[in-house]
Amino acid sequence: MHHFSYSGGHLHCEGVNLETVAAEVGTPCYVYSSATLVRHAQVIADAFRRQSVLIAYSVKANGNLAVLATLAAQGCGADVVSGGELLRARKAGIPASKIVFSGVGKTAAEMGLALEQGIHQFNVESAGELRLLSEVAVRLGREAPIALRVNPDVAAGGHPNISTGKSGDKFGVPWGEAEALYAEAARLPGIRAVGVDVHIGSQIGDLGPMRTAFEKVVALALRLRGQGHDIRRIDVGGGLGIPYKEGDAPAPPSAYAEMIAEVTAGHGFEVILEPGRVIAGNAGVLLATALYEKQAPDRTFLILDAGMNDLIRPALYGAHHDIIPLVEPRPGQAMKTYDVVGPICESTDKFAAARELPEVHGGDRLAFMSAGAYGAVLSSAYNARPLVPEVLVDGDRYEIVRRRPTFEEMTGLERVPEWLTTAA
Ligand SMILES: *Cc1c(COP(=O)(O)O)cnc(C)c1O
Repeated sequence: MHHFSYSGGHLHCEGVNLETVAAEVGTPCYVYSSATLVRHAQVIADAFRRQSVLIAYSVKANGNLAVLATLAAQGCGADVVSGGELLRARKAGIPASKIVFSGVGKTAAEMGLALEQGIHQFNVESAGELRLLSEVAVRLGREAPIALRVNPDVAAGGHPNISTGKSGDKFGVPWGEAEALYAEAARLPGIRAVGVDVHIGSQIGDLGPMRTAFEKVVALALRLRGQGHDIRRIDVGGGLGIPYKEGDAPAPPSAYAEMIAEVTAGHGFEVILEPGRVIAGNAGVLLATALYEKQAPDRTFLILDAGMNDLIRPALYGAHHDIIPLVEPRPGQAMKTYDVVGPICESTDKFAAARELPEVHGGDRLAFMSAGAYGAVLSSAYNARPLVPEVLVDGDRYEIVRRRPTFEEMTGLERVPEWLTTAA
């Protein structure tokens, strides 16, 4: 479900013609739909009408301040994985009391920052982290509310690079060690165990493995209660998949949320969700302009002004993004098969192989669909290309919410030592 469609022969985001945005902002650029972000947050919230829930949006999926502020206005909290993401969430208006802090490599400085801010929960991923967090909390005269992220050893079926819930993955505490670690947590002076956390992967379309993992986690939480731990929260992480191409049919967000409500109901748990992709993925597109068509003996390359530095998912995960023209194809328009590539000097700078598209000419503009999550956040300035700008649409209005940096800004942090600038 998203708000990108053709109207009057041109692709629109809500009420805004994307040709207008491309002409003003230039390409490449990302465009996000407020209505889509809001709708996704609401669908999930709706399933928890009768239960206490915190929707801690996963900032790493799309951390633009305007996107975060849009979700903050819907009552969302944030799941952060670094001090920087924590500060972003706070800057966008998300209260610390709605922030959970995940990740395997928290530093003492990040722990201190989060304790001083008074965040809702630390999702602790190892014994070493638990002990350091206790020390930092004691030093600051605080108590850290924690959930242990447990590794349920469930295969989620997604891409191996984004699976996180198998015993060989680096994430979480091994299932068999969880209870002993909760016992240790109870003895640590700076720690208060309040929940159990799990996150088994990303782009998961099948609710079966998730349900299995969440049932295990609820059973563990009840066992821990039986051992005297005051476990009040179940954090089910994120990971629900979205459709990237025709034929993809992941479970809809409503069914996902209903399943979680069902599995966790009846024990008075506060449920925490950490959705990322399902909220932001279909809420964004990347706009690009066709530069050249280049004929090789066995294929035709379509060379765009967007590269893997702007959208790395195809190069990183072999991910598919639909590519559609901003001008609506006419019925019967000629089709042509392209290898769609960018300008970066890497052979992996390829968005699609043998992709059939309505015939494209130099100067034509295209949209990469479903690029709202793990798009701009993973962009870089490789090849000294400016970081890709971002635009937020709301109804008939839009605003540039991250502008393209100038060359001076791009080089502003660098310094040539004096010994290189003074003649010998
Ligand atoms: C990445 C991540 C998420 C969000 O995952 P999505 O697949 O985008 O929903 C949630 N929680 C944790 C701990 C993560 O690492």
